[in-house]
Amino acid sequence: MTVSIPIAGLNATPQTREASLTTAWCAERLTGVYEAAAPNMTIVVQATRYAEVVETHVRVQGKFRCACSRCAEPVDLTVDTEFDHHFVGPGQLDAGSDVDEDLAGLDDDPDVSEHDGTRIELDDLCVEHTILALPDVPLCDEACKGLCPRCGINRNVESCTCDLQEERSSPWAKLAQLRVQKD
Ligand SMILES: [Zn+2]
Ligand SMILES: [Zn+2]
Repeated sequence: MTVSIPIAGLNATPQTREASLTTAWCAERLTGVYEAAAPNMTIVVQATRYAEVVETHVRVQGKFRCACSRCAEPVDLTVDTEFDHHFVGPGQLDAGSDVDEDLAGLDDDPDVSEHDGTRIELDDLCVEHTILALPDVPLCDEACKGLCPRCGINRNVESCTCDLQEERSSPWAKLAQLRVQKD
């Protein structure tokens, strides 16, 4: 399953193409942290072609699951992101550096790439923008209390006395106990 659109049918009137990607295929490319929470991702591409240049506006929607960074409970994440990407004809990015100063600038622009003369391919771009849309530190809740570093219980559902014990075993607590014993 790919997001590959033939450029022959495109013209100066914006056209919408719908495609889908297998969520699992995308998840495999997302550093292994995420897994699919729905079979498919929906990709909606609006494409406009002026001669060899194809301008696209892409919306990517998908559902993923991962473990909360603090408590390791499963977290469902919905991705709904949009991006613009322009495609130029084969060889146009390289040719630009000799021929045209304006086109030469496009070479450094991450939002421009070449198409192969027949189709535009959006799979990798969709994966890239899905990564950007997902949080660096996924949390089940902003207020997640995480796991106790001593006994490992989930502090969102249970409480432990590790903190209290730590207080008791601190040097000050021992001093206090000594004083009590002396008395
Ligand atoms: Zn959590
Ligand atoms: Zn504990």
